[in-house]
Amino acid sequence: MKKTIIVLLMISSLLWGAQVTRVKWKSGEKFSSYLQSKHISLSVLKTLDELEEQVVGEIRGGQIFYELKDDKGALLQALIPISSTMQIKLSQDTKSDKYRFSIVPIKFKDEKYFASVDITKNPWNDISKNTHNDKLIAQIKKAFRKNAIKLQKGDNISFLYTQKTLVGYLHGDPIIHVIKLTKGNQEQFIYVDDDGDGHKEPYETISYMTDSPRTAIFRQTSGASSSSGQFSMPVRNPRVTSSFSYGRYHPVLRFYRPHFGTDFGVKRGTPIMSIGNGVVTHVGWLGGYGKAIKVQYSNGYMSIYGHLSGFRTIVGDVVQEGDVIGYSGNTGTSTGPHLHLGIYLNNSPIDPMSVLSEGSSIADKLIDKMSDAIGGGQVAQIKKIPIFNAEKYRETLESYINNKTPSYDWNKYESQRAQAQLDENFQ
Ligand SMILES: [Zn+2]
Repeated sequence: MKKTIIVLLMISSLLWGAQVTRVKWKSGEKFSSYLQSKHISLSVLKTLDELEEQVVGEIRGGQIFYELKDDKGALLQALIPISSTMQIKLSQDTKSDKYRFSIVPIKFKDEKYFASVDITKNPWNDISKNTHNDKLIAQIKKAFRKNAIKLQKGDNISFLYTQKTLVGYLHGDPIIHVIKLTKGNQEQFIYVDDDGDGHKEPYETISYMTDSPRTAIFRQTSGASSSSGQFSMPVRNPRVTSSFSYGRYHPVLRFYRPHFGTDFGVKRGTPIMSIGNGVVTHVGWLGGYGKAIKVQYSNGYMSIYGHLSGFRTIVGDVVQEGDVIGYSGNTGTSTGPHLHLGIYLNNSPIDPMSVLSEGSSIADKLIDKMSDAIGGGQVAQIKKIPIFNAEKYRETLESYINNKTPSYDWNKYESQRAQAQLDENFQ
């Protein structure tokens, strides 16, 4: 208890009158010349190891970073992002006045906000004026794109969104969750999926070919087996975006980071096919893999299909090579739609590419067969995939509307930025 109070007092006295500013790294500027410009002894450079030296040599011109200065303008701390998750932290030690160099994770704030805008003149000007967050406009346009919605004078648009901030500044694009449009007496909700596309129902529809609710017609036919590997590709026209590795030292993240699988770049909603004949042992959330499926095959092989948007199988299903078991997405720890395929032999991860057949896979042939079937006049079935948390977001949005909550005004937020000195990143 006592300790906490002392620490808090130290922080507040250290940061009293301090100001945060957002700065651009000058093109061609060296880290050493930056230190000199701040009257910081170059001796700090001697504390850097080889990897850290490499990192400071790679700061890009135009990189946005943050400085915390005291009331006389002396630098107390600098936070310089070096990747989407890590930053250089240069901070003055209060006792010795020396500066310390470290590489630490960036701590973003990731919070939900609400806006309600009456359209009086130009919709986009009105939204900009009410929210002071112009990046919302592109996101709303994207959500409307496939729904042929036009905002007009007299309409009201209310929406729930998440905005990342970093030391009091907006960071990245806002993510819209749900929109309510009111045109006269008419009300319309737009539910936004992981990719930012809007849907008039709290689910999205995907068409596929089937002969029964969970059995695809384009399953393996007898005699057709992969020639070069024992498993077939999980997607058509596979494009590998990240390979298997046991772990190499990551210079930026500064730890050994294995990648127990192969990543395939695919659009959201791409059918994911079982790579072999097996039994489904898991369907649902699986930590960083998000929505994931596990399939157990014979001879001790098991696979994980991760970051999916939807499922087309349940636990206990017997699946065959080429069966569509789910759809790709961007759930879990993922920066964009892709499929993570992990293959395990007797519970140890192996490189999927060592057992997957390359070239024209059975999956390709099966999809071709499906296309032929569609061409042959068969009707595709429609599958409804619920949008994650859609109903919950709508309820939250409605409660804000009912409580007549004002739009969140980022201008006011910015005027409170003096508080940003107490931001976690500076402590
Ligand atoms: Zn992966």
